[in-house]
Amino acid sequence: MTNRYAFVGVPCDIEALRKVEAYSSLRNQNWVGDVALQVGLFCRENWAFTCFRALIEDDFGVKLEDVKKFDIKKGKIIGHKKDGSTLEFPLGKSRPYVRVGCHVCLDFAAELADISVGAVGSPANWSTVICRTKKGKEIFEGAAREGYIEAKPIEEVKPGTMLVKKLTEEKRTENLEEAKKRGEKGASVLHIKTLGQSELAKDEGKNFDDLTSDVIDAGACIACGTCEAVCPEGCVKVVDQRPELTGKCKDDCTDCYFLCPRTSLPQIALEDMFFEEDAKRETGVGRHLGIYAARAKDEGTLEKGQDGGAVVAMLSYALDKGLLDGVVSPKSGVDPWNPEPVLSKNKEDLKKTSGTIYSHSVTIPFLKREATK
Ligand SMILES: Cc1cc2nc3c(=O)[nH]c(=O)nc-3n(C[C@H](O)[C@H](O)[C@H](O)COP(=O)(O)OP(=O)(O)OC[C@H]3O[C@@H](n4cnc5c(N)ncnc54)[C@H](O)[C@@H]3O)c2cc1C
Repeated sequence: MTNRYAFVGVPCDIEALRKVEAYSSLRNQNWVGDVALQVGLFCRENWAFTCFRALIEDDFGVKLEDVKKFDIKKGKIIGHKKDGSTLEFPLGKSRPYVRVGCHVCLDFAAELADISVGAVGSPANWSTVICRTKKGKEIFEGAAREGYIEAKPIEEVKPGTMLVKKLTEEKRTENLEEAKKRGEKGASVLHIKTLGQSELAKDEGKNFDDLTSDVIDAGACIACGTCEAVCPEGCVKVVDQRPELTGKCKDDCTDCYFLCPRTSLPQIALEDMFFEEDAKRETGVGRHLGIYAARAKDEGTLEKGQDGGAVVAMLSYALDKGLLDGVVSPKSGVDPWNPEPVLSKNKEDLKKTSGTIYSHSVTIPFLKREATK
């Protein structure tokens, strides 16, 4: 039986999932049909948990378990400690710890999601919500109508989309420059040039060895775990944020290479496949049907939320109304601030996922396991 799950992820997770969705019939990946909604979070960069821990604990001498919330605001990382004090340092100090794959990512606003959510553009304790597809907008509007969120058009907020555009532009310019430098040194970044589907033909016939040389060793891998999820033999596993071969590949199997979002990523073709014609194309924001500032009406959801608690509030509405069977998203795991993907089937469990964990979660293989149970 097909489930109707929402998936919450950073832009590279959404790029990965959309690519699998686009070629699911061709590549026999029916499990992705369980994804009914993709919620993307704005993201400038991300950290592997071990690096984030080293940054906070070794460089700044603060135990992760002593921090109740992390924020990134106005170029600073801020750790709100349980004793009421704060750890605050410039974002620049974290740059050496950022994952190498993030430095060639061109997507800030999760442009392929059904709904994208971030802090930038809205006042404190509100979330910026970009509704990109009809189904995304219906969930957003339903949540507003039924009193789960308070919402207003982004034009009523200063500076609104201006900041989203600025950050998108900065990320793209910086990372295209980095990709160019890597290309000059012989490590070409494959995904940034692909717009249409014709480019995909060159990915045919390539296997895990090619993935290792062209993506993983080339520093473009973002450990989304797509290669693990799509492997028909179950012989690829992401270990410590790096895909590894743990068994023998099937002869002629090319799924891990073909479906990786860091080989070809036919951005325009994917937009044409998943977005309605009336979804406006806006540079720096992506295709959309409307942009809003929103916040949870439920006090607890707002308080526990990273910004306006809009993600959890909107998805709580969808679970309550039976529009979704579950939500696959990360929460802080056994090690505090080490993300662990979970499936929440009701709003009480979903609330435990509130807030941002600034470390990468390998959520896609978990989603596949849940979808194929
Ligand atoms: C690594 C990272 C970097 C970000 N950078 C920016 C930025 O530069 N600018 C900006 O405006 N916004 C950024 N965001 C988004 C922002 O932090 C909030 O997640 C977003 O505004 C939603 O807030 P909310 O209160 O509506 O969500 P809530 O209602 O609090 O829900 C949070 C949701 O995020 C999910 N989540 C938490 N951690 C992760 C993770 N590591 N990976 C995937 N999903 C996760 C939770 O499972 C939950 O579903 C970033 C998020 C992440 C994960």
